Amino acid sequence: MSDTLQITDIPVEGYERVVRGVDPSCGLHAIIAVHDTTLGPALGGLRMWNYKAEEDALFDVKRLAKGMSYKSAVAHTGLGGGKAVMIGDAKTIKSEALYLSMGRLVDSLGGLYTTAEDVNTTIGDLEIIRRSTKYVTGLSRESGGSGNPSPYTAYGVYLGVCAALGQAYDNDSPKGRTVAVQGVGAVGGALVERLVEAGASVIIADRNEKRVQELVDQLGVKAVSEDEIMTVECDLLAPCALGGVLNDDTIPALRTKVVAGAANNLLLKPEHGAMMKERGILYAPDYVINAGGIINVSVEFRDGGYDEDVALRKIERIPQALKELWTIASEEDIPTSEAADRLAERILAEGRAAKA
Ligand code: NAD
Repeated sequence: MSDTLQITDIPVEGYERVVRGVDPSCGLHAIIAVHDTTLGPALGGLRMWNYKAEEDALFDVKRLAKGMSYKSAVAHTGLGGGKAVMIGDAKTIKSEALYLSMGRLVDSLGGLYTTAEDVNTTIGDLEIIRRSTKYVTGLSRESGGSGNPSPYTAYGVYLGVCAALGQAYDNDSPKGRTVAVQGVGAVGGALVERLVEAGASVIIADRNEKRVQELVDQLGVKAVSEDEIMTVECDLLAPCALGGVLNDDTIPALRTKVVAGAANNLLLKPEHGAMMKERGILYAPDYVINAGGIINVSVEFRDGGYDEDVALRKIERIPQALKELWTIASEEDIPTSEAADRLAERILAEGRAAKA
């Protein structure tokens, strides 16, 4: 343990453990939030962000840790929810000493929390962290990890898209359907390939013009501008770029019956779930449909280590989770986003009861 790393607990109601780590020798100022470990050790990524104040970092890490508990519960990963944030500018603060110290902070929790990649954290950063703690996941296959999660997220999103088509149109085949995809990066791009292969007619938009042209040339998809994609007429819209795209401006203008995509926090505010319901648009809650990546990582925790087949079989249960929450939404007459939270809370409550 470094002499200069100071670890203090921050008591937060509803959270199992929240700790602050400060190490003046390398500029570390980090918070780890462990929300719930009923279903297993908490797993969640490490985010670096230039928060203005510790209060903002605390707000963010709590929100993200709770989100991970819900996501893991619904995906039956056998894990709990946690998250870590490091305060600072990723362009200037990064150093080996910083990540070694962060690793010691993770290690101080003795396995209650395991870390992974997130915004501004690279596999290279995780490799340094690994030198001071074993509680790290998502490393490369060469290092014994489960590797890049994006193809697994894309597979789960594709299966979820098929389930959503089935729910809305009584036929889950993408063949002959028009699907619009916003953002064709690691996940969106792989989704587009699968959709084209399945016979869908795909419309794409991305601010990376080179990437758009590549897909137009290779797959014969149609491209529209960044401004048009959210309101293009289609059977299903898959936002795979950024959060907050379902909001007061876009929801009234949607020309689709289904929204199912990979991006996190698609609803700008919780009340936008109700707006989707009012408009009669089926929504596949983001953290349920995009769980393929976390499911893949969670397989690292099983006895015997990572096994791709096990990961794929687990990802193939995403449509079942979606159908379950759509049933809850229709029986209880609530937005599907709320039904997802209820499903997660039910699974967590059952876990607590089984433990008791
Ligand atoms: P990525 O960075 O590889 O791709 C995002 C793409 O969106 C880029 O090509 C970018 O140019 C484009 N983009 C950004 N703003 C845009 C805009 N306004 N209009 C159109 N295109 C825009 O990221 P990714 O790994 O493919 O992830 C996509 C989304 O899915 C993110 O919101 C991410 O948080 C979420 N997600 C990813 C994973 C994963 O395993 N990668 C898992 C869960 C959730």
